[in-house]
Amino acid sequence: MSWSIKIGRVAGTDVKIHVTFLLLLIWVAMVYYSEGGINAAIDGVVFVLALFGCVLLHEFGHALMARAFGIPTPDITLLPIGGVARLQRMPDKPVQEILVALAGPAVNVVIAVVLFVWLGAWRDLAEIEHLPRPRLDMVPKLAVVNVWLVLFNMLPAFPMDGGRVLRAVLALFTSYATATQIAARIGQFMAFLFGLAGLLGNPMLLFIALFIYLAAAQEASYAQMKEIAQGLVVRDAMLTRFTVLDARATLQDVINVLLQSGQHEFPVIDERGTVVGMLTRDEVIAGYRNHGPDMPVSEVMHRNVPTIHVNAPLERALQQMQECACPALAAVDRYGRVVGLVSPERIGEMMMIHAVLPRGANISWHKAGA
Ligand SMILES: [Zn+2]
Repeated sequence: MSWSIKIGRVAGTDVKIHVTFLLLLIWVAMVYYSEGGINAAIDGVVFVLALFGCVLLHEFGHALMARAFGIPTPDITLLPIGGVARLQRMPDKPVQEILVALAGPAVNVVIAVVLFVWLGAWRDLAEIEHLPRPRLDMVPKLAVVNVWLVLFNMLPAFPMDGGRVLRAVLALFTSYATATQIAARIGQFMAFLFGLAGLLGNPMLLFIALFIYLAAAQEASYAQMKEIAQGLVVRDAMLTRFTVLDARATLQDVINVLLQSGQHEFPVIDERGTVVGMLTRDEVIAGYRNHGPDMPVSEVMHRNVPTIHVNAPLERALQQMQECACPALAAVDRYGRVVGLVSPERIGEMMMIHAVLPRGANISWHKAGA
């Protein structure tokens, strides 16, 4: 996520805060300061930090459970509306997805129980000792907030945790795509309710509503892509008419090609035809602006281009694109020569064609293994 600052790394996961989170802290400090001076401001900020500490532990609950199933979590980002753990992929087995989704709220249950128990013990102690303990009055508040975090996250508003559990339970009875579609519809309906509640008073709910709505739509379209990809191989969905760039070409050469074609990603090959890099349209334009027309493409392209065999399942291509967050994959034959391009846009176009075809019609796409 851009506009995020890395603040540390725990158990192989980068912990980041989004800059808007800092704005939240400043806003809280200002509101409390205007009400009760500097002490109130410090109390307010400490409370928000403690609250987000609980949110962070919640996200680590997801991350550690996912890791138990062999799925790494590259980063966790704290936003003013909560935390986002970016798992490299979602578990395929519904039961694993349920466990990963429940691991987050379970952390808050544990925190709440520990705080309530400790609070009970502390009350007794305080009566004996009569010691002034500044800021301990926020402990009960924090315990209650953790209960709220559990309840809120368990609402069946996909893609929140409760929605994920719902999707996974539905997926036990129907296809993954249908389950996602139902869960996403319910999520978007809940987002609409949040939005209404937000309009009536709490502006934060408006942001949460928007976030849930967009995330639900994105998940639904990914699940749809996955369903269409089923049984297809990379060869079925790749773009075969495209321009490749010679590693010795200059940015001026690429600009000339850009002006004539609608291609977005350009594989770069060496003299043997092996892919050595990839350039996107935006990178060409940025490189041209910064380095001028005579710059060789090999200097601005990104290397380590993810490749996939033309006969690999299309589902694996989707998964690979999601994991590397790359604009396209180069489809290669067994000699490592690039023979096609796979991109989310390309698959999106395929979905549109698929949508207008009569049911059962399958143009010339051959099934995997056939
Ligand atoms: Zn969660």
